[in-house]
Order: sequence, then structure tokens, then C-alpha cells
Amino acid sequence: MISRSFSTALERLAQYNAYLEKLGGRLSHELRTPVTVVRSSLENLKMAALPEEARWATLLSACSTDGDLACVLRALEARGGSPADLEAAEAAGVLEMGGDRVLITHPLLRAVVVELAGGRERRAAHRLLGEALGDEEGGERWAWHRAQGAIGPDEPAATALAAFAARAADRGAAAAAAAGFDRAAGFLADHDVDLRVFVLLGAPYVAPEESVEWTVRTAEYAARRGATAIALIPVRGGNGELERLESLGHFAPPSLAQLEAALDGCLGLAPVAVAADLWDLDRLPACAECRPRRIERLRRLNVTGGPEPRVVCPACGALSAA
Ligand SMILES: [Zn+2]
Repeated sequence: MISRSFSTALERLAQYNAYLEKLGGRLSHELRTPVTVVRSSLENLKMAALPEEARWATLLSACSTDGDLACVLRALEARGGSPADLEAAEAAGVLEMGGDRVLITHPLLRAVVVELAGGRERRAAHRLLGEALGDEEGGERWAWHRAQGAIGPDEPAATALAAFAARAADRGAAAAAAAGFDRAAGFLADHDVDLRVFVLLGAPYVAPEESVEWTVRTAEYAARRGATAIALIPVRGGNGELERLESLGHFAPPSLAQLEAALDGCLGLAPVAVAADLWDLDRLPACAECRPRRIERLRRLNVTGGPEPRVVCPACGALSAA
């Protein structure tokens, strides 16, 4: 299975790396070395032809979002594995154990491992992890793994997750996140390090008609905290989770018109450099007639900082209607 999809994975890794390089020089510099490490780990994965149980140990570790070693081990043992399988995977360089944690050696490698497994094995891994959390039945991690392991909606899991989201909002999770951002921004300013910020457009649980406003307000917040460069990034589906949230009505893919409105709304933040992330923009819903011209306009605005009138289109009959 691994060798079959291996070249695809390397190809995707290269594309992803190219994408990250476009995001910013500093970021790509930091990532260039790790990607080489991931590449060699993937080679090891292929060369060593990991035994089935070591491969499962890797997949379970990758699917365990928090790297809880005890939970991964229980899940592994439930299908007849043992700590030796984790050690075999560690020896192959794909994961590391320390204290009560087990971590895949790099986030990109983790994404590749999860993707290579395919839907059936991935769901099985999540079900095993959910069952391994039996003592937390009804808890947040339990509900999440159970939802990931289900085919179609899992009502108990969905209900539990919605309750957690509501409780988190009540507890002022947003205020806590803002405080965390302030601390990080203050730390960077104290150490004379530039602050670059990525702001999402179309985050799940934000009503589509409010998403542009929230994106602009978030960018304004970052600018007030000293950000020198801000990239607006439309949230993209494709990982399964957003598709699940979309089916539940918690996520709507952002449109090209929303990205334009968000960027236009941020141009007043100059001299802070605000740019729209243009990667894979052809996937955003938009009128086919004027899409190329509108993307070109965004490309210019990214360089010039605008302002510039919207594209007028006879086909969709409006100024960049969605
Ligand atoms: Zn049009």
C-alpha cells in the first residue's frame, strides 16, 4: 500500500512545499530543512517496509491528535500489537516517544501517513482510539474520534461535539485565544522579531454573511498588535473534516467575491502589507467568465496595495458578485 501511493505522496509533498514557499521567505527557510527530513523518513518507511503492526502503530500515533501514548498503546493492543511495534516505527524514524507522548516526527509526515492509510483504515484507527478512551466516554476526545471513525453522521458524537463547542464559546475561548495572541505578539516585539499573521477567511462556525467582517476585524486586530505582514487565507476543504462540518451546516466554502471584499476591506491598514493568498484559487466558487480577471486584480493588489476598482462583468451582472 505504502509503495503504491509513495510517489504520489512525494509529489504532493513537493507541491505543498512550493505552496509554503510562496507564503513567505522566512517560513520557507524554516521549512526547507524539515521537508528534507520528512523525505528521508518517507524513504525509510519505504525501504524498511515496516511490518504491518509497526505501520498500525504509526497510523494510530498519527491519528491521535494529542499524542497520548497510553491511549495509542491501548488501541494498538486492542488489535494484537505491543510496545515493540511502536519501537520498530521509532527505529524507522517515523515517530518519537518521550514521557507519556508519542509524536510523528514532522507534521507533514503525519499528514502523509494519515493520507496514505486511506479511508477504511483511518476510520478503523479512530474507532480503536475512541474505544481506548472508554473511561472518557462522552468526553471531547472520545466524541471526536468516534465522529472520525463513523461512516455517515454519528448522532451521539455530533451532539457531544456541539455541546463542547457551545461550552467553549461560553467560557470565552475567543478571548483566551486573543490573549494568547497578544502574549506572542508582545514577545516577538520585545525581541525585535517581525510579526507575520495568517488570517483565515470562512472559518467553520462563522456565519457566511459575517465571515468577511470577521476576517477584516481580525486583520485590524493583528495590525494594532504590530503585525507587519498579513496574509488572508480562504479556508479550503479536502481533509474530510470540513466536508463533515459543511454537511452539518457549520461551514460554507468562502467565495472569490468574499476574498475580494476582505482584501479591499484591509487595504486601509497600509503600511501593513495585506495580501490575499492566491494558492489553488480556482477552487473557490465564482463566475467562470470574470474569475481570471478578478484573480489578476488580486494579484496586482497584492503587489501594489491598491486600491483599484472591482472587475465589472456582464455575465454575472454585478461587481464581482459571488
Ligand atoms: Zn462574472
